[in-house]
Amino acid sequence: MIISMEKGASKKKIEHVKHLIESFGCTAHMSEGAERTIIGVIGDKRDKDRLTMLEAQPGVEKVIPILTPYKFASIESKHKPTVVDAGLGVKIGGKKIIVIAGPCAVENEKQIFDVSKAIKDSGAHMLRGGAFKPRTSPYAFQGLKEDGLVLLARARERYHIPVVTEVMDIASIEVVSQYADCLQIGARNIQNFPLLKMVGKTKMPIILKRGMSTTIEEFIMSAEYILSEGNSNVVLCERGIRTFETATRNTLDISAVPVLKSKTHLPVIVDPSHGTGVSKYVASMACAAIAAGADGLMIEVHPKPEEALSDGPQSLRPSEFKELMDKLRKIAAAVDREL
Ligand code: PEP
Ligand code: MN
Repeated sequence: MIISMEKGASKKKIEHVKHLIESFGCTAHMSEGAERTIIGVIGDKRDKDRLTMLEAQPGVEKVIPILTPYKFASIESKHKPTVVDAGLGVKIGGKKIIVIAGPCAVENEKQIFDVSKAIKDSGAHMLRGGAFKPRTSPYAFQGLKEDGLVLLARARERYHIPVVTEVMDIASIEVVSQYADCLQIGARNIQNFPLLKMVGKTKMPIILKRGMSTTIEEFIMSAEYILSEGNSNVVLCERGIRTFETATRNTLDISAVPVLKSKTHLPVIVDPSHGTGVSKYVASMACAAIAAGADGLMIEVHPKPEEALSDGPQSLRPSEFKELMDKLRKIAAAVDREL
């Protein structure tokens, strides 16, 4: 249940409604906007009738029942789309399209510096790079761990670009948060509920990647885990799902963009690199994502994809990335966005 207070309702009226909600044994989650306060009510379905009566209270504009199982992520729970500050003032979810680029994994200082400079020169807004890598094989490169985080932080300082990197488990949330601006929860951890709850207790911006076999509803429910712990800085990332098709690594679900946008107030970005797994298809799908209304992109770029320790086949060369950025500027303008 969502309670929308009237524009400019006094503090006293708001407190009174909050008090009533709590006296019913429900929890009130307050969201104070510039114009009005929205109260998210969590409680038993049986409290529905009593809560509906709150519409008669002074200062209450409307009581809106929530039909979806996700209360905080639901578009009905908020009047305005959420804009997430992902680090150093880079805002995801506004008119500006945000491009996050970088290698799959941080490999060494030269690699991460070269790629940071290249993507920054081409207009990227954020640097990505894995230090803790979730690999299918235990024998594959697992990432440089904290040494990789140190290199990311150095690139961040040198090129003045915020950094996003994956956090794979609860134990490493603290160390990753010390170096990164934004935490990525990878596809394989989409239903690691203890991890979701724990990042929900932080104030860090979170890029939440869709799991390879999660439905849209399950994806939003995972975001709900983070939101319900009090962290509303969540960006959803479509990165392809498993289908019967084998021509691409995954099937990029572009339709997830308008669907997610119609169901939630959270920003939505697309990762065409993991979505296709093939570098020559990345640009087309990046363009498609922006045309479909995505708020940003996450793209893997490597100075020498043929030498990459992970995901080389889907990584763009810096020159290809630059070319793509030029194309994206035109698409962004066509859909009344900026890049
Ligand atoms: C990645 O971004 O490098 C990654 C491992 O992505 P995903 O979790 O989407 O597979
Ligand atoms: Mn990767």
